[in-house]
Amino acid sequence: MGEDGARQGLRARRCSGRSGFGPDTCACMDRDAGTRRRQVLGHLLGQGLALGSAWAAAALGGCTTTTTPGGVPIDTRHTSRGQDSRVLFLVIHYTVADLPMAIKILTENEVSAHYVLTDEPAPRIFRLVPEERRAWHSGPSAWKGHRLLNASSIGIEIVHRGFRIGPDGERIYLPFPQAQIDALIPLVKDIVARHEIRPERILGHGEVSPQFKQDPGPTFPWRLFSELGITPPWPDAIRVTAQQALFEAQPGGLPDVPWFQEMLAQHGYAIEKTGQLDTQMRNVLMNFQMRYRPARYDGLPDAESAALLWVLNNPMPGLPALPLPAPPALPAPPAPPARPASPPPAVPVLPA
Ligand SMILES: [Zn+2]
Repeated sequence: MGEDGARQGLRARRCSGRSGFGPDTCACMDRDAGTRRRQVLGHLLGQGLALGSAWAAAALGGCTTTTTPGGVPIDTRHTSRGQDSRVLFLVIHYTVADLPMAIKILTENEVSAHYVLTDEPAPRIFRLVPEERRAWHSGPSAWKGHRLLNASSIGIEIVHRGFRIGPDGERIYLPFPQAQIDALIPLVKDIVARHEIRPERILGHGEVSPQFKQDPGPTFPWRLFSELGITPPWPDAIRVTAQQALFEAQPGGLPDVPWFQEMLAQHGYAIEKTGQLDTQMRNVLMNFQMRYRPARYDGLPDAESAALLWVLNNPMPGLPALPLPAPPALPAPPAPPARPASPPPAVPVLPA
């Protein structure tokens, strides 16, 4: 019985299912239920349906019964194959606040998280919200069309200051202690395994809420998570370098802003396709760069960011990362005929 059940007043009891018809016997084994079961069995057999041995074993074996406050039994002996976890995403945060303040904020205010990972020398993990309940950690958030991710995610808050302000007013992001990362990895692996969360749905708060957040920031070891197989493979360096060179060599310069916005949307971000290098686009691109190109995250388009986006959006599953063949030498083009200027060439891309 989950805590939801307890709150709603449901009562549960277990029984062997084989020991008579006393007051503690579950409803699934009373005389009426047994009669109904035989009737249903006969009906199904009459329909020509094959009943597997698993069903028969369940029908004859033990059971768990809950009872509503109205006294109606709820028989839970059968389990549907067609089901999965409601948890689709894992969202990683840092608190900015220290441990006492973080616990206070996350337990006494309208914000919360399932887990808090402390920054002590031997880190501890607090569970503030049961996984089957919704924690209020992501606020306005979206990824690949999914919105308001609190309803479909587990949230982990890492006690971490985030950044300090440098002499010129800039943010200097601080590293995560190795002990904290060592404690985080098995927690993430366990949650991901139990809920079968897809690798590409393990995300930072800044990725699902780029207009408001940057956590866990550019020092979070996303590459390590990728190398451990927790998150998707890191963009192949050879492909990125080759694609970057193509972008840098194309006559028109970088791919244009609409291309970046389309690629960022394909990757998963909620971004308005305004066609303008506006604040919302820079926020999204900055979050992308924080994860995949943490050496520079100015939110401005550049060839390396374009190449990273292209490779991430065009993976080659099952193919080894081979050097790209040199393009064949082309004969000298004939003299162009006199005609109006042609439109600019399409963005060159490597074959996916
Ligand atoms: Zn956050």
